[in-house]
Amino acid sequence: MHFSKILLPTLREDPSEAEVISHRLMLRGGMIRKLASGIYSYLPLGLRSIRKVEGIVRQEMNRAGAQEIVMPVVQPAELWQQSGRWNFYGKELLRFKDRGARDFCLGPTHEEVITDLVKREVKSYKQLPINLYQIQTKFRDEIRPRFGLMRAREFIMKDAYSFDVNNEAAEKSYQCMHEAYCRIFERCGLQFRAVEADTGSIGGSFSHEFMVLADTGEDLLVSCGSCNYAANLEKAEIRRSKTNNPEKAGEKALEKVATPKMRTVEEVCEFMQIKPGNLVKTLIFETENGPMAALVRGDCEINEIKLKNFLKVETLGLADDQLIEKVTHAPMGFSGPINLSVPIIADHSIESMENFVTGGNEQDAHFRNTNFPRDFQPKHFADIRVAKEGDGCPRCRGELKISRGIEVGHIFKLGTKYSKSLGAYYLDEHGKERLMVMGCYGIGIGRTLAAAIEQNHDSNGIIFSLPLAPFQVLILPTNIGQENVVRVAEEIYSGLRARGIEVLLDDRKESAGIKFKDGDLIGIPIRITIGPKGLMEGLVEIKKRNETQKYSVKVEEVLGRVGEIIEKELGA
Ligand code: ATP
Ligand code: MG
Repeated sequence: MHFSKILLPTLREDPSEAEVISHRLMLRGGMIRKLASGIYSYLPLGLRSIRKVEGIVRQEMNRAGAQEIVMPVVQPAELWQQSGRWNFYGKELLRFKDRGARDFCLGPTHEEVITDLVKREVKSYKQLPINLYQIQTKFRDEIRPRFGLMRAREFIMKDAYSFDVNNEAAEKSYQCMHEAYCRIFERCGLQFRAVEADTGSIGGSFSHEFMVLADTGEDLLVSCGSCNYAANLEKAEIRRSKTNNPEKAGEKALEKVATPKMRTVEEVCEFMQIKPGNLVKTLIFETENGPMAALVRGDCEINEIKLKNFLKVETLGLADDQLIEKVTHAPMGFSGPINLSVPIIADHSIESMENFVTGGNEQDAHFRNTNFPRDFQPKHFADIRVAKEGDGCPRCRGELKISRGIEVGHIFKLGTKYSKSLGAYYLDEHGKERLMVMGCYGIGIGRTLAAAIEQNHDSNGIIFSLPLAPFQVLILPTNIGQENVVRVAEEIYSGLRARGIEVLLDDRKESAGIKFKDGDLIGIPIRITIGPKGLMEGLVEIKKRNETQKYSVKVEEVLGRVGEIIEKELGA
């Protein structure tokens, strides 16, 4: 491709709306353009890289035995009503009516459609296992679309769905996808970790997220410094520390203290001259089973997802002022566990505490020297707080550390959630009807590309690895006014193309400086610079985008040298 012909509108300035580096570089590099919030067009350069990611994903899915299909973007409401998600999914599901006033939605994911398809077409154990996937546009009306392709509303996803005869077989399918995902992200040149994750609105029994490590990531992940335990912070478990406190001083008498207008942990601690570690926070939550109280040490936070999973409830949210007053008989900021009539779940962090401060369930009052079971009795102790740097690993004696990541892929073992609600049965070898056991597996194609750019760039622009690069080689003639420069550039161009190498030839009448700048910005891995001075000695220059070193190479040897680099790095 010639630069003068391709639609590649590079920008000098950083676009103001772009908050993260990958978004800035994809806009500046002329890869994408915004149509509306979270909705983008892919320009030729962007699309070429998107296709590279898709190609790797497709190869590995096929290699793992999955079969490619394409399902509709527009989905009828009936299927979502059958699965129960029409009401549960919330506003991310973009709904509309057709001319006959029938309800439809734009597919944010395809569990319903695939289960309906498979239940109609697959009837016997002989047809199982089966794994079907597609690479297709999804729509989710995200509350905060941002970071370009990273959190878009319209985006390309690879989604695969496996159907098995039983749990054991389903776990094999899951494992097979786990391995395929590792190969995919390795081939994309990403530094990533597979972490244990919450199953969220897709539901199901267990899941892993594939996280690309990056400081700009929206997710926090917890990993052990000593073993391979890694989990999303939402889900991360904490080792229970020793319950008996050897330094126990003995219980002191409960004492009510006036704490006028002291509501926050900081205010109470300063006023009472104690550390947050000597205070127990009481939070009131509302669930479909009624209100409840959760207790945690003052220097820790409740993890609502862990609490929700522990309680096995569908909805959980912090109580509003009115409910707090009703439950505690005090305004917000003074809740405590003593004399509460709602169930109390206490985090393990308070197990070894004694003589601690709690809210008084009365305006402007707290208690000093609270103890349990003397003053209150939790219904359960459980691991319901947010993990912190330095907490104990739940799997070994090691310590947890926290880092940021971008979730590029997510695999779920779904079990029979959808086969049950949508009626996907098969006949086993005895002619008995059984539910299929499912798994689902997603990869964000655009997000994977964005994550690769987050991990691989410098102050001049993108540094594409060969597998994801829109072009493998950039030919940069410094002066196209000179006949021999143009001729050699075109010869090398044709020679590389004849070898199946993807080449961009910068034939623009721009200055060499601008061409170098644009070349670095769009991050083509191999650059061949051709200038009049070098040509006088029959030499051109090869430079890799990820190295500073430049090599002078004889014109006749260029094709061979470039071929070698590509072969080595692509392992072709
Ligand atoms: P998140 O927690 O980031 O919203 P999710 O749990 O909703 O992700 P899944 O439903 O598991 O995501 O979707 C599978 C994959 O699709 C994700 O791992 C991610 O790579 C991609 N993806 C999800 N939402 C978006 C989005 N808004 N824009 C781009 N890619 C997305
Ligand atoms: Mg989401």
